[in-house]
Amino acid sequence: MALIGLLGGTFDPIHCGHLRLAIEMKEQLGLSRVLLIPAHLPPHRDTPQVDARTRLALAQAAIGDIPGLEVDGRELQRAEASYTIETLRSLHVEHPGQSYCLLLGMDAFRNFDSWYQWQDILRFCHLGVAARPGSNCPQRGPVAKLLGHSRVTEPKGLNTVPAGKIIIREIPALEISATEIRKSIASKRTISCLVPPKVKQIICEKRLYQDAK
Ligand code: ATP
Repeated sequence: MALIGLLGGTFDPIHCGHLRLAIEMKEQLGLSRVLLIPAHLPPHRDTPQVDARTRLALAQAAIGDIPGLEVDGRELQRAEASYTIETLRSLHVEHPGQSYCLLLGMDAFRNFDSWYQWQDILRFCHLGVAARPGSNCPQRGPVAKLLGHSRVTEPKGLNTVPAGKIIIREIPALEISATEIRKSIASKRTISCLVPPKVKQIICEKRLYQDAK
């Protein structure tokens, strides 16, 4: 059965860097599709202008008709923030036997040992780490050790077992971050080409992030 990619994030707002990450990794790893899973925001950031429903709507607008990209709102349907491991467990209950590849940037992977029950996460999925040119793998510490015994270099290495492997792929750099987008909006600069046109339209219509930090 083909692997499904999972890309979690706050997506506050979703931008072209996220979409290219999903598309590049889908193509490079031969994933059947990628589910974008918006996360709850920490309470101090959860202002009405970026409530869960709005971020979900932005994500849905962003994927438009890009083939193989889907939005999964399960983390936002819960009353509180959910840990990745819980999301993986719920996917496995719904689709027993399906294999997943959790996608993340190298920056996020470097701190993987701070994730809740991080060692158990690999029992439920593979990891697909997107490295932008020039970004280095962790060289020491628990994440480097994990990489040492779980790394595969070819996508076919992900098909030999249902979970537990890590693959690193280089993707072209798109120097876009949600933080910079929020700052640009607040200082009245244009965000064209940083987010898809429909996302920009919703942000403008709803006047989101006008005084964001
Ligand atoms: P913020 O600036 O608010 O921290 P962000 O733009 O980094 O947000 P997140 O929602 O935190 O976005 O990121 C979700 C995932 O997307 C992470 O794994 C992160 O590494 C990855 N990511 C974010 N921006 C890019 C980008 N420009 N290129 C590739 N991957 C990215």
